[in-house]
Amino acid sequence: MHPLLINSLIMKIITINSGSSSIKFKLFDMPIQKELLSSLVEKIGEDFSTILTTINNQKSITKIKLNSHKDAFKLMAITLKENNIKQDDISQVVHRVVHGGDFFNSATIIDKKVIDKITELIPLAPLHNPSNLLGIKKAQSLYPNAIHIAIFDTSFHQTLPNYAYRYAISNNFYEKDRIRRYGFHGTSHQYILSEMSKILKKNKPNLITLHIGNGVSATAIKKGKSIDTTMGFTPLEGLIMGTRCGSIDPSITIFLAKSKNLTLDEIDKILNKESGLKGLTDTQDMRDIINLSKKGNIYHLAIEMFCYAIIKQIGAYIATINAKVDAIVFTGGIGENSPFIREKILEKLNHLGIKIDRKRNIESKTFINKKSSKIKIAVIPTNEELQMARLAFNYTKDNNV
Ligand code: ADP
Repeated sequence: MHPLLINSLIMKIITINSGSSSIKFKLFDMPIQKELLSSLVEKIGEDFSTILTTINNQKSITKIKLNSHKDAFKLMAITLKENNIKQDDISQVVHRVVHGGDFFNSATIIDKKVIDKITELIPLAPLHNPSNLLGIKKAQSLYPNAIHIAIFDTSFHQTLPNYAYRYAISNNFYEKDRIRRYGFHGTSHQYILSEMSKILKKNKPNLITLHIGNGVSATAIKKGKSIDTTMGFTPLEGLIMGTRCGSIDPSITIFLAKSKNLTLDEIDKILNKESGLKGLTDTQDMRDIINLSKKGNIYHLAIEMFCYAIIKQIGAYIATINAKVDAIVFTGGIGENSPFIREKILEKLNHLGIKIDRKRNIESKTFINKKSSKIKIAVIPTNEELQMARLAFNYTKDNNV
């Protein structure tokens, strides 16, 4: 057993989500699941980086220039020190890694082999895995005595059956190139599953989980396992998102390349960064879109399209689960905070016996369905970092690390 686990019943765990220009750190006391500190560093490498720090519910914002991830990690260590957290107090550092391919289906201790696999998977997640690796490298040099653990966005969806994860293209593309549905947002869907299991007092519930934020994905969970999810080979597939188009006819990309002479990189940027709500309305912020929406204008149409895609998906997943659905759950920035969008989606499912309680919805209660509703409807704030800390803590406990 790791010495720090023996020495103290309470462990300090840092979670790290290292992106290309931003890093989110959180510090937890485990197993009591207390969040002690969080810090969101944005705009690394720009003229001014912003650092939003929350300690004991007190928020503060600072602006300084941080040239690189190395600077951001140094700043994290200083912030921890100022709060009397020494280097050796940290027993685990938990890293979010976006793409684990079909190699990783649970929390994994990071060693050379794991680093090599994450590196091998870069072609599948060129925007994410390199920044995740950079974070791992920097944190390992700052906290050499801690156990470093990777949590993959894809792991929770490794239970998908092959008929749900295969695409109907040549076998070779699957066998040689690993082209298949992987699914993402796994940590969030899994957190919702664990919260709902407690609330429903049911070990392995059937759920439709809707993560509706800038990124949007739905997952069908049957008997506590992900059996289908909307994001695919990359996070681009599926529902309409802040800047991603979601599912479109693949021929559109060929048409754009051929008839508009666009390069593949240009098309990639258009579909990932300039489409979705932003492509339709010029803003990706759902609050602005709702405020500007009037029947007949583009903001109104964007909301109709956004909700329509989710309504269709809920219908599909009710069929996919093929058993009583215990709850439909809303989470993510929009799912948690917009009664308007929730109602727009749910009012179209009335004929299936799904009945929203308007008052409970406006108050964002945990359950927002009428008693007579055939399926419960819940609103649960997601907490990916806490889920990462839980998965890492349980992994070391279960494996006697
Ligand atoms: P990310 O996927 O980047 O984590 P979030 O989950 O924070 O994003 O979601 C961001 C989205 O949530 C934005 O479109 C924002 O406008 C939307 N949002 C936040 N609060 C509200 C609200 N009260 N009503 C509608 N949309 C909201």
